Amino acid sequence: MTAQAFAQMSGGRTTPGPKMRTWIKDPIAILADGAARGVVVEDGRIAELVGPGAAPAAPVQRTFDASRHVVVPGLINTHHHMFQTLTRAHPAAINKELFAWLEALFPIWSKHLGPESFRLATRLALTELLMSGCTTVSDHQYLYPPGLDAAMDIQAEEAAALGMRITLTRGALNLTVEEGGNAVAGSVQDTDVILADCERVAARWHDRSDGAMTQVAFAPCAPFNVTRRLMVETAALAERCDCRLHTHLAETRDEIDYCREHFNCRPVDYLEEVGWLNERVWLAHGIHFNDEEVFRLGRRRVGVSHCPTSNMVLASGQCRTRELEAAGSPVGLGVDGSASNDNSNLMEAARHALMINRLTYDAARVTHLDALRWATAGSARCLGRSDIGVIAPGKQADLALYTLDELRFSGAGDPLAALILCGAHAADRVMIKGEWRLVDGAPPGVDVARLRAAHGQAALAFLREM
Ligand SMILES: [Zn+2]
Repeated sequence: MTAQAFAQMSGGRTTPGPKMRTWIKDPIAILADGAARGVVVEDGRIAELVGPGAAPAAPVQRTFDASRHVVVPGLINTHHHMFQTLTRAHPAAINKELFAWLEALFPIWSKHLGPESFRLATRLALTELLMSGCTTVSDHQYLYPPGLDAAMDIQAEEAAALGMRITLTRGALNLTVEEGGNAVAGSVQDTDVILADCERVAARWHDRSDGAMTQVAFAPCAPFNVTRRLMVETAALAERCDCRLHTHLAETRDEIDYCREHFNCRPVDYLEEVGWLNERVWLAHGIHFNDEEVFRLGRRRVGVSHCPTSNMVLASGQCRTRELEAAGSPVGLGVDGSASNDNSNLMEAARHALMINRLTYDAARVTHLDALRWATAGSARCLGRSDIGVIAPGKQADLALYTLDELRFSGAGDPLAALILCGAHAADRVMIKGEWRLVDGAPPGVDVARLRAAHGQAALAFLREM
């Protein structure tokens, strides 16, 4: 079944129905120029911006009263490891930095992760993201213990069930501790198996059309746990399949030392050597770059997924967001895996982005609008999408609506700034491709309490390791 046929079966609209125009009317504020009276949505897209004092140019069949809402483009998550929701705040891993943290968790993940727990972890993380205002996700799924061959198919099914867009990011590990890497034997796959599955997943799920619900990217995990051959051949395959490429890079100083020791160069040099310094690529973290590397990355339009929460929890460092953007690199936001965050709340990550960047830059250089832009338009560029990330005519109707009803917002002046500064963390409504996928703070049809109970039960096995 093709991605488009699957989307149709699972509720995605691919054929035009009777004309239905919906006016999202009179929001408190909206992150779009010339839309003071809201937007009109038609056939899954933004049809019209309604300016101050104006009314829609053509009749509308439905009106949604947005007078309690602040409206922003649907948030886009560019880096995650959803399976890690099963090892949140794990006693074996807390209070450690990346390499020691991975060393503690790899054996536990490899031993216990199976298709059922993986499905629950995916469902839970997607639901959490959606409830925070996220409409498009990518999940860097690199762990394939025996029995998890259908991981990408499971994720496609779970995203479709919630009506969310997903970039299936087919990750990989193929270098164990014994071979000079840091993955454990139970979590790695043979290079040819990885490449064959990448090709299979792309053929089945990669929809290149405008408004796609499901796309595919290829993503060897990191320089320190995959082989050079896998990096090189994955890049060639991505060219052939017209897919994007993703990996972790320059997250820690330990990684810089690893590259010097094993490749006799720095991470960006290695990236160039294996054919990855191009605009098809977006990198997770991208922290430890010198000026010359920032310039090279920007010139080649390599994107960076900034993961502020994880970077603070693991004490990894501060991404040079402003220099990277000035050099030409798209910068987006990611929550990162749920054992180093340890939640999946993208709006909270936007707040953290503002805060950590103000430790690097002065307050005027990083504003709430920068944080929101990274979480929306910047993330869309990282995923190679021009059809989402902004509220403008012709773009996909992906919207996140927040109320300012909680105590934390009381007395707030600037509504858009309030989302970030007062700490919005739960959307009231989310629209994806013109359909309401979150209503009154919950996804219709999902029993959140039951999901919480089932996932918590599945996570117990990962704790018993202690
Ligand atoms: Zn990561």
